Amino acid sequence: MWWPSVPMVRTLTKLALSLAITLAQGHALALTVFACEPEWAALTHSLLPSAKVYSATHHLQDPHHIEARPSLIAQLRNADMAVCTGAELEAGWLPMLQAKASNPKIQNGQPGMFYAADHVTLVNPYKGKVTPYSGDVHVLGNPHVHADPRRLMAVARALAPRLAAIVPAEKARIDRQLQQFETTLTDKIQAWEQLAKPLRGRSVVTQHANFGYLWLWLGLTPVADLEPKPGVPPTPAHLARTLELSRAAPPMAIVIAQHHDPRPAQWLSGQLGTPQKMVVLPATVTSDGPEALFAWFDLMVNRLVQVAP
Ligand SMILES: [Zn+2]
Repeated sequence: MWWPSVPMVRTLTKLALSLAITLAQGHALALTVFACEPEWAALTHSLLPSAKVYSATHHLQDPHHIEARPSLIAQLRNADMAVCTGAELEAGWLPMLQAKASNPKIQNGQPGMFYAADHVTLVNPYKGKVTPYSGDVHVLGNPHVHADPRRLMAVARALAPRLAAIVPAEKARIDRQLQQFETTLTDKIQAWEQLAKPLRGRSVVTQHANFGYLWLWLGLTPVADLEPKPGVPPTPAHLARTLELSRAAPPMAIVIAQHHDPRPAQWLSGQLGTPQKMVVLPATVTSDGPEALFAWFDLMVNRLVQVAP
């Protein structure tokens, strides 16, 4: 019978070890993440730069209304993890994707299914009766939580350990990335708050609650919404009331998101004789670089400060 020599056993053991390490690293490198919205893709990238992150939506889309396309099902089927908003933001499409993807890793209750809204306090739950014609009402509270950098920080602190649980080999790296993210964001929050001081106590007319948490953070008051109910397009009667309100107490700005129909806001700012007060902001990050989240807040704060007389 042939027995391997001692040096050969050592060589084989070394080979097996290095293969195991390579496989472990290979797994870490190959972590595939399905993000429902671009802000969570950006955050996941910040915490684990080696992850392959796919965003199901982009900044010109309304995350309430996404078609459950076959390409999205395929992406979710191949994902190790999904990072979404929750609080029913994706109620119209994510459950269908989860069912069709039949991937056990990203079903509700699994470590691979992360909902940001589970880790922050939500405001303004819709108290009215919900019918099929109710629009995109926020029954559990406003789900657009990423527009508050403090809530974003809380989500990052919850997402980092979840990522580390799924890719233990990357834990040290994720911890370092989180620390760096926290330091940068803390400094930036201070700078943004300083810059936005003139906005405190001012009023805005909005469309939908996309920036609700931004107003809360910066101390702005949303006095009217161009939507009569969340997700319901403005009616002539509702617009007339909004104009009346805005004439009585002129708002600092009329702020809509890039994915909204701009016509109601254009009409209102035109009627008020202040077209320069109309501000169109992206409702989320517009790129996927490591600075995307910071750049988005920079843009929003600066744009609002520009229109504050
Ligand atoms: Zn909404």
